[in-house]
Amino acid sequence: MSFSLAERNDTIIALATPQGIGAIAVIRLSGAKAIDLCNEVFHGKDLLKQDSHTIHFGTIRDEEKIIDEVLVSLFIAPKSFTKENVVEISTHGSSYIINQVIKLFLKKGARLAKPGEFTQRAFLNGQFDLAQAEAVADLIHADTESSHEAALNQMRGGFSTEIQELREKLIHFASMIELELDFGEEDVEFASRTELKELVERLLRVVEELILSFDLGNVIKNGVPTVIAGKPNAGKSTLLNALLKEEKAIVSDIAGTTRDFIEDEININGVIFRFIDTAGLRETQDTIEAIGVTRTQEKMKTASLILYLFDLGDTDLVDINRDVNKLENLGVPFVKVANKTDKADPKLLATLKKEHPDALFISAKNQENLEALRAKLIELVNLDKFKTGNTVVTNIRHYDGLIKTRDSLLDILKGLEDQVTNDFVAMDIRRSLHYLGEITGEITTDDLLANIFSKFCIGK
Ligand code: GDP
Repeated sequence: MSFSLAERNDTIIALATPQGIGAIAVIRLSGAKAIDLCNEVFHGKDLLKQDSHTIHFGTIRDEEKIIDEVLVSLFIAPKSFTKENVVEISTHGSSYIINQVIKLFLKKGARLAKPGEFTQRAFLNGQFDLAQAEAVADLIHADTESSHEAALNQMRGGFSTEIQELREKLIHFASMIELELDFGEEDVEFASRTELKELVERLLRVVEELILSFDLGNVIKNGVPTVIAGKPNAGKSTLLNALLKEEKAIVSDIAGTTRDFIEDEININGVIFRFIDTAGLRETQDTIEAIGVTRTQEKMKTASLILYLFDLGDTDLVDINRDVNKLENLGVPFVKVANKTDKADPKLLATLKKEHPDALFISAKNQENLEALRAKLIELVNLDKFKTGNTVVTNIRHYDGLIKTRDSLLDILKGLEDQVTNDFVAMDIRRSLHYLGEITGEITTDDLLANIFSKFCIGK
């Protein structure tokens, strides 16, 4: 999908609120003729004589037939989301009314918007850069506090500003080096090699940090992949069910919300924990065998967090120490959870508390101490890093761009070390600039844009 210039001048229309029945639906028009078209079918004040950012009550009519009573909001170019004339029509939320209104505008000359076309116009008209446009999509899909915070930060330009600053510094060096190239034979040095090296090293640190933040960004966006591991009968499925049951209760407690309860996910303080391979856990007893079975280990490696559960009524210290040892070697953060406190041998309990002071003691069946377990899970994902307002990369395209930037920065450093000629240094700098520019959209291709905006829904 790419847009010709003529298409860009069309006035586009789409339903901005979700499909289905609601109290109110909002239909959005954008384009030079948006207000004129609306004025043709709106009975009320003359919309062409109204100020921007005003709302007007009236009826929408097809010839003399009233379709609905509506509120019309006006945004006159360039003071709108797309920087074009925008009209938002709030109608009653029946699909019949929505269809009639949209059909009427199509008859009058508007065209149905393509997926993401409103946001694409906003980008093309300079409302924001590409990274910010993508954050609009993330924001729409963000349904936890932390993913919302990351998307909002990005949409407001946190990530872009950081990239922009790096890019400008590099551009400065690139132009200095190009200047040296112009002087050809003469032995001038406008760009100090030592300073360039320092700058590139600084850029590398920032880029590396952004790359690392992607893990965290991914967690924020998609949830923390979590595995409950332990011997058969340790109580894994009982624990999972207990956690999910409480989650279900919390979800349905919030009156009037429509957030679906998602099987196998729990939300703790705005962070989603996604339990891996829980189907097997709940259907059969023995799908997760004792730690050490290769298949289980493979699965555990894909987890960001392991909940190691053992049965206080049926484990000895040797077993536990051996398992803990294996977990330490695996390198995935884990929490030791002793289950069935209700039938624990007091002596074993005392020894355990001494040897494993960081273990948690719960009863899955009686739902005891689950609050402490939840607190521990949150502590393990270490979201403090994120709360300090650091930029977090959540988008795979940006991550990819950052990896390529890092590699080309490393090439600059290598070139400097090997004392390659200026034209090679200049080439590597240009490559870094190119990748940084692709992230913010200063460098785009139709394919790239089409790819990004087609992932939006219609109406965005
Ligand atoms: P899994 O094989 O690890 O999934 O273990 P299950 O969740 O199926 O539990 C095995 C048995 O332990 C079941 O009979 C549970 O009712 C029981 N169980 C789980 N948690 C507790 C607990 O806290 N106390 C007691 N006494 N029994 C429990």
